Amino acid sequence: MLSYNHSNFTVHQLPALKDNYIYLIEAHASDAMIAIDPAQAVSVRRACRQLGKPLTHILNTHHHWDHTDGNVPLKNDFGCLVIGAAHDAARIPAIDIRVSETSPPLIEGLDIRVIDVTGHTRGHIAYLLDDALFCGDTLFGAGCGRLFEGTHAQMWHSLQQLALLDGATRVYCAHEYTLANLDFAMFVDPHNGALQDRMQQDKAKRQRELPTIPSTIGTEKATNPFLRPLDSSFVTAYAASKGIDADALSVFTHIRQQKDHY
Ligand SMILES: [Zn+2]
Repeated sequence: MLSYNHSNFTVHQLPALKDNYIYLIEAHASDAMIAIDPAQAVSVRRACRQLGKPLTHILNTHHHWDHTDGNVPLKNDFGCLVIGAAHDAARIPAIDIRVSETSPPLIEGLDIRVIDVTGHTRGHIAYLLDDALFCGDTLFGAGCGRLFEGTHAQMWHSLQQLALLDGATRVYCAHEYTLANLDFAMFVDPHNGALQDRMQQDKAKRQRELPTIPSTIGTEKATNPFLRPLDSSFVTAYAASKGIDADALSVFTHIRQQKDHY
């Protein structure tokens, strides 16, 4: 189990299923122990046993089974509280507390902000704890989630909200998809030097069986093809090469559609 220290909490990274990450947040100033998107109960139980602390809360980013299947068994084991989006509460199994941007979770010892990131699903939310972003299936290492329920305009708006965060913010997304995403990124943006460097670094990590996640907002802005439309010179060049309108949403939409068929 790899762990990352932040000033008010430690993040434990639990690989699960084929390529999911479940995160356990251990607060420093309270007994709070939170699982983000428990795809399965078994790895969370094992980690809590190792750490010697019971689970107190579950935070879900969205309703998909590979983010919520652990909700019911973990609630049965620990009596923990399940927290999810108010505007998608009907699809979050065993939900106890409904949250939103204006009504975020209140958990002792932690400061938690909710960011609406509709796109991958309706009602997808992200959680920001200090300089740690838990964004589920919205922003990935060098990629973004598929649009199952939202529109391109909604996803582009959501990604822009995340791009506003400080560049040093660590991005804890829910899947290890980075190498496949980087392959597509090189196809979209072959002359980007930061992207070429990232490809080498992340390939080396995977060869040593290390995660490429967390990345940072700064790294994603420089290399992620779905955030590159923030850069007007990229928009101009990309739009000209494809014969499409030279605005950020049109370019984002074109790139997202290309990825769907890549
Ligand atoms: Zn999903």
